[in-house]
Amino acid sequence: MQDLPATEVRTTCPYCGVGCGVLARVAADGNVTVRGDTDHPANFGRLCSKGSALGETTSLEGRLLVPEIGGRETSWDEALDLVARRFSETIEKHGPDSVAFYISGQLLTEDYYVANKLMKGFIGSANIDTNSRLCMASSVAGHRRAFGEDIVPGTYEDLDQADLVVLTGSNTAWCHPILYQRLLAAREARGTKIVVIDPRRTATAEECDLHLAVDPGTDVLLFNGLLAHLDIAGVIDRNFVDSSTTGFAEALSVASAEASSPGAVAAGCGLAEADVRLLYELFAATSRTVTVYSQGVNQSAHGTDKVNAIINCHLATGRIGQPGMGPFSVTGQPNAMGGREVGGLANQLAAHMNFDRPEDVERVERFWSAPAMARQAGLKAVDMFRAAGDGRAKALWVMGTNPAVSMPDSARVRTALKSCEFVVVSDVTRTDTTRYADVLLPAAAWGEKGGTVTNSERRMSRQRPFLPVPGNARADWRIICDVAQRMGFGDAFTYDGPLEIFREHARLSAFENHGDRLFDIGALAEIADAEYEHFPPRHWPQASGEPCAERLLVDGRFPTPDGRARFVAVRQEGVALPVDAKRPIALNSGRLRDQWHTMTRTGRVPRLMANVPAPTLEIAPLDAHRRGLRDGDLAHISSRYGFARARVTVSDNQKPGTAFLPMHWSGHFAANAGAGSLATPLSDPFSGHRN
Ligand code: SF4
Repeated sequence: MQDLPATEVRTTCPYCGVGCGVLARVAADGNVTVRGDTDHPANFGRLCSKGSALGETTSLEGRLLVPEIGGRETSWDEALDLVARRFSETIEKHGPDSVAFYISGQLLTEDYYVANKLMKGFIGSANIDTNSRLCMASSVAGHRRAFGEDIVPGTYEDLDQADLVVLTGSNTAWCHPILYQRLLAAREARGTKIVVIDPRRTATAEECDLHLAVDPGTDVLLFNGLLAHLDIAGVIDRNFVDSSTTGFAEALSVASAEASSPGAVAAGCGLAEADVRLLYELFAATSRTVTVYSQGVNQSAHGTDKVNAIINCHLATGRIGQPGMGPFSVTGQPNAMGGREVGGLANQLAAHMNFDRPEDVERVERFWSAPAMARQAGLKAVDMFRAAGDGRAKALWVMGTNPAVSMPDSARVRTALKSCEFVVVSDVTRTDTTRYADVLLPAAAWGEKGGTVTNSERRMSRQRPFLPVPGNARADWRIICDVAQRMGFGDAFTYDGPLEIFREHARLSAFENHGDRLFDIGALAEIADAEYEHFPPRHWPQASGEPCAERLLVDGRFPTPDGRARFVAVRQEGVALPVDAKRPIALNSGRLRDQWHTMTRTGRVPRLMANVPAPTLEIAPLDAHRRGLRDGDLAHISSRYGFARARVTVSDNQKPGTAFLPMHWSGHFAANAGAGSLATPLSDPFSGHRN
């Protein structure tokens, strides 16, 4: 890896799951400039518009710099004493399940690790969930059902090597821009065919060979039809199916009954039959096929079934674990994958262990010498805020996320935050959520703290500090440990820095792991200070004494008890976004190219605001005409959960009967324009994902 000038620091972008390497430089006047890290294998020096503007987001404007209690500035000691006392008293009086943590894919792996350890091992509840629940929990559940473990088999190189890439529920051009550029470069080099499955004609669809504007929520039917077609076309890999899988006959039977022909699928999905046939024929004929899926698949009341419908097609053709092929879930956040590694979800344990295996619970309990090990899954995001609203969760700590805007049915979430007896928020800036905090704890931001993150292809990279921590802000891991010590758990939370936490995380991954859990980074358990500092980006697993496995599931063996992958027979369960005569438009939401989450960082950069400076509702010409709406009009949008207002953009990119409102607009930037206010809180029975 190339040496850098002393003034430049190698770190990782804090935005999307591509996980691009960034070189940051601080000038004598304090100004920060960034450039892409040519040595980082995720981006090879490229950055998108958001990443390129990172240097313009490091000012202290709007920063939380001092702890506050009830709006009054105070000392860390007073704030931490109060947090620890209120959590301890609540637990003593009402039990461990009366408290909850809602955390974030923005946290570093080391932060995540100690938060999870405190809640699941020492408080004795699993009421810790992350905003990644809204991003990729359906992929986690789908991977576990099919593979036995939350495994992303492939790497970004597979996109370079594929002949066909199917992008489903993924506006990759805007949401994972550098990955998309890499795909376009591969197409230039080898003629890769690109298919986009999305109700909206997105920027991604502009460049594709085939766009299927599928009706929202009909993905299972489309992929069940594909499975049936693969059988008819005679491209099932019988050797692989027989030796490496179970459940094929039932999955095929259900798929064939439901999706009897491309014509039936086309009618059910709102597509032209010729387009469905073309997709099926391309897929059947192309061995090197990668199916990339993202939030459009995951964020659904049937997200897990959609994931398994996709995986079924790859298992049936044996297209998994080999170069240029496989199902590939791309994560939305910079460390959604790292959170999965340490059990950041309420239904997971650390290091890819799970509550449904008592031996896993006991293993983690032994490793931590945990005095109060949680033994069952806790409240997932939507349920957690319901519990905060109805009094079951009496003390809630929100870390580095803005649920008052980003959660579905966000009006109810705001009511819950208001009524919850004790709310702590640790964050970098003031947000719509910090308004509800009884105690506000100022956290260190990107560029001020160090640790690791893991991107969509299982590649761990360092985030490194290059700025001093301002005011009295503290790193998240330290805030959590400070509270843990005051709650009486001091011996288990005496880390002197993120490296010590990382080593423990690595040791746990290898603890009593005899190859049955693929997540194993035991080779890093004794990593030296200098090596952690240097830490080139690397994939997991990194098992002790084993070579690093870049691609997983290469040998047709899976981390299930019998070593076989499981087909899951899935059915199309209605549509995800039901419409009726009163509310005839299905609203879709997603990202803008230049904004990130609730805009707390990107909203401060004028050039990122310039492209879309105000909330905009995209609507099809026919639907606009029927409502008398024209470009620039102010639309009042209502759902059964709330309302929003946005300027109208009439667009052929929208399928009639659907509309699109970006997810980003918080109360800081626009009154009543949050897509979360309109979204249904229905959630997936397996993953807890919502529509
Ligand atoms: S593609 Fe994602 S990780 Fe890369 S620079 Fe852009 S936002 Fe950052």
